[in-house]
Amino acid sequence: MFIDGCFWHRCEEHVQLPQANAELWRRKLLANRQRDARNQAILTTEGWRVLRSWEHDDPAAVADRGEDELDRWAAIVGRPQGQGRE
Ligand SMILES: [Zn+2]
Repeated sequence: MFIDGCFWHRCEEHVQLPQANAELWRRKLLANRQRDARNQAILTTEGWRVLRSWEHDDPAAVADRGEDELDRWAAIVGRPQGQGRE
């Protein structure tokens, strides 16, 4: 699970580029987004399930998404007898 910061990962809702050195910041933050996509592709290729959320997302909703994803995974691979979630 990744929680991406709105500034550094360039959330379209909240990013505001600094006025000083704007072009440098635009390129830096775009490179961050490209790196995120590249890393996610690598992880997915290696069999990881990737969940991304934004800093501005509701923390309870993010936790619920993670829990739901774990439930889906447990339903696929099975859980040892008597090892249900507390
Ligand atoms: Zn945001």
